[in-house]
Amino acid sequence: MKNILVLLADWANGIFAVLLASWCTGAEVVWWYFLVGILLAMCPDLDAIPELWRRGKLAASSEHPTDHRDGLHYPIVFIVAGTLLAWWLGFWGFVFLFATLLHFINDLYGTGWGIKLLWPFTSHNYKFLGRRVNRLKFLLVSDGDWAHINTSERRLRLLVSWSKDELPSYIDRWGDEDWIERWYLRLNWISCIEYGLFGIALILAVVTLLY
Ligand SMILES: [Zn+2]
Repeated sequence: MKNILVLLADWANGIFAVLLASWCTGAEVVWWYFLVGILLAMCPDLDAIPELWRRGKLAASSEHPTDHRDGLHYPIVFIVAGTLLAWWLGFWGFVFLFATLLHFINDLYGTGWGIKLLWPFTSHNYKFLGRRVNRLKFLLVSDGDWAHINTSERRLRLLVSWSKDELPSYIDRWGDEDWIERWYLRLNWISCIEYGLFGIALILAVVTLLY
């Protein structure tokens, strides 16, 4: 049940993608378009299936020091493909473009170790509004780590990055196997944004279908 909380942001992204594509092309929205939009918004996470299959859970940590996002999370590739699809298919191409773009935007500030935003030009992982230790302050405080990390690690930065070589050591030290419970089963700025976006998307979807 708690795993559903992790998906709400992408459900919102799928709904927003359909509404944006409709706005761009003038296509009239039918209810099932939202279901397709939601599936497309989740499609970059198809790279999580092998880990889910093997471990029954997803987490980059000392137990499993690799990030599933290394499989498909390459936004430049999706933007090029999505732009071509939008030009070729119109409405559904736009839905794909917006759905995957919004997914990557969510991955750039939410949970996880960011994404390889500029691949193939660099293999660095980038994340907005984060710390290099990749923990929210209340977790660092409650775990007793806040007092032991240096001042620069405490600061919430507009942009953080990890090189391909240093990321595994950060994941090994700071990766969290229980990230769903610790990030989503309480209110913090990330869970509030994601739950809020889902609420707004639901309202917009209902208004669009009814009026
Ligand atoms: Zn993702």
